[in-house]
Amino acid sequence: MSWEENVRRVTPYTAGEQPGQKNVIKLNTNECPYPPAPGVEKAAAELDCERLRLYPDMNAEKLVNALAGYYHVKPEQIFVGVGSDDVLAMSFMTFFNGDKPILFPDITYSFYDVWADVFRIPYQTCALDTRFRIRMEDYLQPNGGIVIPNPNAPTGVLEDVEMFEEILKKNPDSVVIVDEAYVDFGGRSMIPLIGKYENLMVVQTFSKSRALAGLRIGFAVADEKLIRYLKDVKFSFNSYTMNMPAIELATAAILDDAYFKEIVGKIIRTREWTKEQLRRLGFSFEDSRSNFVFATHPEVPAQELFAALRAGNIYVRYWKKPRIDNYLRITIGTDEQMRTLVLFLENYLKER
Ligand SMILES: *Cc1c(COP(=O)(O)O)cnc(C)c1O
Repeated sequence: MSWEENVRRVTPYTAGEQPGQKNVIKLNTNECPYPPAPGVEKAAAELDCERLRLYPDMNAEKLVNALAGYYHVKPEQIFVGVGSDDVLAMSFMTFFNGDKPILFPDITYSFYDVWADVFRIPYQTCALDTRFRIRMEDYLQPNGGIVIPNPNAPTGVLEDVEMFEEILKKNPDSVVIVDEAYVDFGGRSMIPLIGKYENLMVVQTFSKSRALAGLRIGFAVADEKLIRYLKDVKFSFNSYTMNMPAIELATAAILDDAYFKEIVGKIIRTREWTKEQLRRLGFSFEDSRSNFVFATHPEVPAQELFAALRAGNIYVRYWKKPRIDNYLRITIGTDEQMRTLVLFLENYLKER
C-alpha cells in the first residue's frame, strides 16, 4: 500500500501557449486583440488599495447587479466566477451527479472531459456530422446532463436557438448548459429564455469579447433555483474567489457598452475579410460566427502549416486529435495581424 494509491489521478487540460517573446503574433487562444474598455482603465486607476485589507464582497453584488441590468434578468438569476472555467467546473460538480452519462459533442471545448474525469462524472460524446453540425437526435437519449457551446469551439459553428429549445423541452430532467463563450461575435443568446426553461443554464465569459482574459471573469444566467444550488456548492468550496479589483473592473467593462459594441463589430469585420482571404488561398472551413476560423487546406497538412507559422512567429492552435488533426484554429487579431498572416501563408504556399 502506497499513498499513491489514494491520489486522485487526472490528465490535466492543456491550454494554448503563452509565449514569452514580444514579437509574436498571437492567434492561438482566442483573446481579444484590442485593450479593455477605457472605462476599465479609468476604474483601475481609481482602485482604492486600502480596501484590499478587507475580504471582498463574496456575493460580488456590484457586478451581479450590473449584469442583471444589462441582460434584463434578476440578480438572483446570476452567478459569477473566476472565468467561465470556474463557473463551468462548479456547475459540473453541482448538477452532474447522476449515474447516467452526461452528453457533449465529440469535437468541442477540451475542458469538458477533463472536468468529467476529475469529478468522476460518466460521459458520452456525440459525434458532430461531417460539416461539424450538432445532430439533435443524439441529445434525446437518456442522460445525466448536457453541455454544448454555441457557437461550438473549436469549429466556430453556430446552431439555432430553436434546436436548443427542442433539446431543453425533450430533457426536462437534465440540466442543459449552453456555453456562450463566443456568442457576442454574431450568435443569438439563450439568455432571453431564462425563466421559460427551469433546466437551462447559459454561461458566458469576459475573456474573449470583453478583452479581460487576464482578469478571469465568467458568469452563468439561470433560473433562481439553479443559481441557489450552484451558490451552495461554491460557498462550500471557497467563498472568496472573486477579488475586489476583478469585481470593480468587470463592472466597469459592462457599463462601457459603446466600446464593447465597437470592438466586437471590428472583430466581426476582420473575420469576414480573413475568411475571404483564406478562401482565396484555397483553405476551406465551415462558417464561423466566433472570433476564430477553423480551417483546413486540401494540399498542405495543418501540422506542417502550424510549424511553419510558428517558426515565423505566428502562433495558431493545432490539435493532433481524431477528426480535427488537419485543421488550424486561427484567432481573429487586428487587421494588421491578419494581413501579416495572410501574406505569410500566401508566400509559404507559393514557395513550398
Ligand atoms: C475560452 C472558453 C471558455 C473559458 O473562458 P474563461 O472565462 O477564460 O475561463 C469556456 N468555454 C469555451 C468554449 C471557451 O472557448
